[in-house]
Amino acid sequence: MKFELLHPADQIVMIMERIYGYGMTTTSGGNISIKDDNGDIWITPSGIDKGSLKSNDIVQVKENGEIIGKHKPSVELPFHEMIYRARPDIKAIIHAHPPAIMAFSLARKIPNTKLIPNVHLICGEVELVEYALPGSTVLGQKIADTFKKGISTAVLANHGIVVGAENLFKAFMAFETLDFCAQLEIRARLIGEPRQLRPKDIEISKAKQDIQMDEFIPKTYSSFERLSRKKMCELIHRAYDQRLFTSTQGTFSQRLSDNSFIITPYMVDRKYIQPEDIVRVENGYKEAGKKPSRSVLLHKFIYEKHPEVNAIIIAHPPNIMAFAVTDNDFDSKTIPETYIYLRKVKKIPFGSSFMQPKMTADVFSKETPAVIVENDCVIVVGKDLLDAFDKLEVLEFTAKAIIDAKKLGDVVLISQEEIKEIESAFKL
Ligand code: 13P
Ligand code: ZN
Repeated sequence: MKFELLHPADQIVMIMERIYGYGMTTTSGGNISIKDDNGDIWITPSGIDKGSLKSNDIVQVKENGEIIGKHKPSVELPFHEMIYRARPDIKAIIHAHPPAIMAFSLARKIPNTKLIPNVHLICGEVELVEYALPGSTVLGQKIADTFKKGISTAVLANHGIVVGAENLFKAFMAFETLDFCAQLEIRARLIGEPRQLRPKDIEISKAKQDIQMDEFIPKTYSSFERLSRKKMCELIHRAYDQRLFTSTQGTFSQRLSDNSFIITPYMVDRKYIQPEDIVRVENGYKEAGKKPSRSVLLHKFIYEKHPEVNAIIIAHPPNIMAFAVTDNDFDSKTIPETYIYLRKVKKIPFGSSFMQPKMTADVFSKETPAVIVENDCVIVVGKDLLDAFDKLEVLEFTAKAIIDAKKLGDVVLISQEEIKEIESAFKL
């Protein structure tokens, strides 16, 4: 499906469904618009259920002000129009009230976009816009003033977020990424002081953008590969639905043989990823015409070093990432399941996974199937895809439980004696 070929009304319906479906706006909150090449603005209707919009609910506003449609346009039409006027490069706008961003808007702060790489690249500079009455031209003027500076992502004091971009999917990516980043910072602040990336860390992380690999054209696809591609896509959709992945962040790979594996592509929307999007890597060559995730070399080294590993996942869910951006160590001796599945989770410095992928591959063992990379990601290995996926879920759920438990009292871990009992009962 080529999103950009859909009619503006259909694009708006799809993205609003996604925003509502993942708890990022309420029935009454938020609005989306697209500016068409002919000058028309397509915008969500005012006060109509955002959880069940249909294409024919979307309102068309002609350049001469004529309004076509069965509903009134959003009350925020003035600020949408003022942004388009201030920034001709912007063709799509999203406004909503996701709870984590609302928290920042109430505290009148902006999320720190430098806790992990990429967020700053996707969202750019973020500014706080002063409060003004919803629907007013005063609010529109204040937002347009921010956008005039070249800023395309703004937190509205005591209100929500506004994002503009050259197309609706890019606006959604920035919206979803800032919401994720807000959740991460809130979770991190519950357990410590988040540490932000230094400018030189951001510079070196840009270096990993360019992975040079020669190409090959696959002659055949084994039935095992076909099945693996299908299963991988199903689990990626599940990871997206569970909020373990965002639309473009999160990597899966699966071994096919001693010298080949399949891996997710770079920057393809995880929600709709299809078997044909997945990239095969064989003898160090990549499938022609595709771009594998940038961590491809790390996957290669892990498979080479660990014959028992058949699947790898790299992700950034907000609760375990709170441990990656603060000085808290993750101790798995919380509940028996977590200890059995995760054993000794290790933390390694920022940059290791792409600067020293061979050394990073060496950190994994039977006792260490999960590694936290400071200010970057978590890497989980498993005997198959479902096993790796399960471990990632256990990691994120446990991290959430530890953070929440700290608000209830001191966290009590399972004793060394009880651990020995678990190890012998479950033959670890
Ligand atoms: P509309 O339903 O009129 O778009 O209003 C929602 C909103 O979020 C106003 O700021
Ligand atoms: Zn609003």
